[in-house]
Amino acid sequence: MNVRNDWSLAEVEELFALPFMDLMFRAQQVHRLHHAPNTVQISTLLSIKTGDCPEDCAYCPQSVRYDTGLETEELMELESVAARAARPGKPAPPAFAWARRTDRPSRRICAR
Ligand code: SF4
Repeated sequence: MNVRNDWSLAEVEELFALPFMDLMFRAQQVHRLHHAPNTVQISTLLSIKTGDCPEDCAYCPQSVRYDTGLETEELMELESVAARAARPGKPAPPAFAWARRTDRPSRRICAR
């Protein structure tokens, strides 16, 4: 099974129309071609700015529009983010990602 990037809209719609368990079966077939079947990647996700989001995503506790009891946190300093990613004395996580509510980080932050 080759990786494809030439899917037609009809082919994608056909996939979306599959019963859920058939779709899961297809996904497992592709997964097993490219990954060890019974291992999972452990990743770390760090929220670098939490809460007080002006958006209205009803599922998200970070929206300021709902009282979820979430404590807000200001934007973390870059050095603090780097320290959390480095995990001194511990093995580095295979994947480290950070997330921030709403707007993008500035170009200055990304350049660093
Ligand atoms: S943090 Fe993201 S998902 Fe949550 S309310 Fe804001 S925009 Fe929506």
